[in-house]
Amino acid sequence: MSLLRNPITADSECEELIRSKGLRATRAAVSVLKTIHSLDVPVSHDDLQDYLSQQKPSNVVDSVTLYRILDRLSHVKLIDKVLGSDRVWRYTGERDQLNDLYECESCHQHFNLPRSSPLVTLLEQFSNQLKRKGDAAFAISFNVHGRCNDCS
Ligand SMILES: [Zn+2]
Repeated sequence: MSLLRNPITADSECEELIRSKGLRATRAAVSVLKTIHSLDVPVSHDDLQDYLSQQKPSNVVDSVTLYRILDRLSHVKLIDKVLGSDRVWRYTGERDQLNDLYECESCHQHFNLPRSSPLVTLLEQFSNQLKRKGDAAFAISFNVHGRCNDCS
């Protein structure tokens, strides 16, 4: 998992990661993984499909294939999925970041809390305390809701 803490930039690195999970490193799977890891915010299936087709015409992935790829990549934990309050799944490269917690109630985009937020510090301390107790298998689920600048 430590590889995921760095942004993935090379296609070859994506291929390697995908193969290491026993999946086929198709061109579509590689561009999906690479794109999700290059974006700062979680993206929905539809956003991702738009984004991929805007990038390069050769990147176009049909809807069903994209669902399948997202499903497989999240199943092996190469990407993570987050359910928004609009009941739409969004996909992200690194869910482990405690500051990626803020969701706009209107447009359902996810935003990062400021790194210097006392809340982030508190959650990190809490997370470290749990880790020190030796129990590595836990997850903190926490969401902050509000309205982003565009929607307010
Ligand atoms: Zn908004």
